[in-house]
Amino acid sequence: MNSTKRAYNFNAGPSALPIEVIQKAQEELVNYNHSGMSIMEMSHRSKDYEAVHNDAIARLKSLYSIPDNYEVLFLQGGGSLQFTMVPMNFLNSDQTASYILTGSWSEKAFKEAKLFGQIREAASTKDNDYRNIPALEEIQFSQTDSYVHITSNNTIYGTQWKDFPQTGGVPLVADMSSDILSKPVDVSNFGIIYAGAQKNLGPSGVTVVIIRKDLLEKANTNIPTLLKYSTHAEANSLYNTPPTFGIYMLGEVLKWVEEKGGLEAIESNNEEKAKLIYDVIDCSNGFYYGHAHSESRSLMNITFRVSDENLEKQFLAEAREAGFIGLNGHRSVGGCRASTYNAVPYETCKALADFMVAFQNKNS
Ligand SMILES: *Cc1c(COP(=O)(O)O)cnc(C)c1O
Repeated sequence: MNSTKRAYNFNAGPSALPIEVIQKAQEELVNYNHSGMSIMEMSHRSKDYEAVHNDAIARLKSLYSIPDNYEVLFLQGGGSLQFTMVPMNFLNSDQTASYILTGSWSEKAFKEAKLFGQIREAASTKDNDYRNIPALEEIQFSQTDSYVHITSNNTIYGTQWKDFPQTGGVPLVADMSSDILSKPVDVSNFGIIYAGAQKNLGPSGVTVVIIRKDLLEKANTNIPTLLKYSTHAEANSLYNTPPTFGIYMLGEVLKWVEEKGGLEAIESNNEEKAKLIYDVIDCSNGFYYGHAHSESRSLMNITFRVSDENLEKQFLAEAREAGFIGLNGHRSVGGCRASTYNAVPYETCKALADFMVAFQNKNS
């Protein structure tokens, strides 16, 4: 480990990457695999790059045990372009789709889909300031819907689905931008999973899409080439130049997850890290209080307030002073948020928990 001091990085996205991955990329940056050039300078049709590309796809398939009837795609445009691509490919003006609203990102996806077809709210927790995930029995959708859309982790409000709805013959589409790779997931429960990379997967610039192959055949054909999933599926995500450096980094992050013991090990790590901070909140006698209801709490984004507004400002200022980065809540909701993605070390979370206890002792 090099001696460069790493920040206590709780950024919501882009966010911390594993130090091991950053250092390996640094070592390989100037001369990748004796090629005399960096991976960024190579043709995306070269053997070296193609190996990186296919290796990343294979590792993601293996980590998630993705069944053979799914394709893994590497696209661009972030999680946000998927808000457009999903309905553009799978929703016509005479069709319906159901959206479960659990926060700002699902609202954005919902709004975008309105441009394409008839959209319904299958459930919403907006009246409750998005403090919880709806109970599975509250969810209402139709068997004739083109799909049902959910946001698996609500980055801004700090809630996360624990059990996913079973939608039977209607494809379930999940925006997993902020909790992909954080725990095992049964991919066969979903028609489409998508995620921008910059929270748990790598640097920004690459978007992972896992899509069931039969859907590719059902998709609309009269849409722009680059916005068709099938274009990318048929070309192994090499129809045009992919974000090669981002995909290389994603591959290294996947290797790192394997070395940590896979998704189960990552999940229990994440549980331990989040518990450190939630325990401080729960044992603070109301000095700190969480935004999310405890049964809906996210292991990735811990949202909380300090009981007194001035004290909250002071908390954020002193935390910044003490080297904690990214603890301000999203600009739309305020408060505090600690994003504890996969690459945020246990020690970093411990340091925050200790800081929170010390701050409370000093100020109550
Ligand atoms: C960050 C985020 C997005 C937006 O991702 P971009 O890559 O910036 O487009 C979408 N959905 C969720 C759940 C997110 O956390």
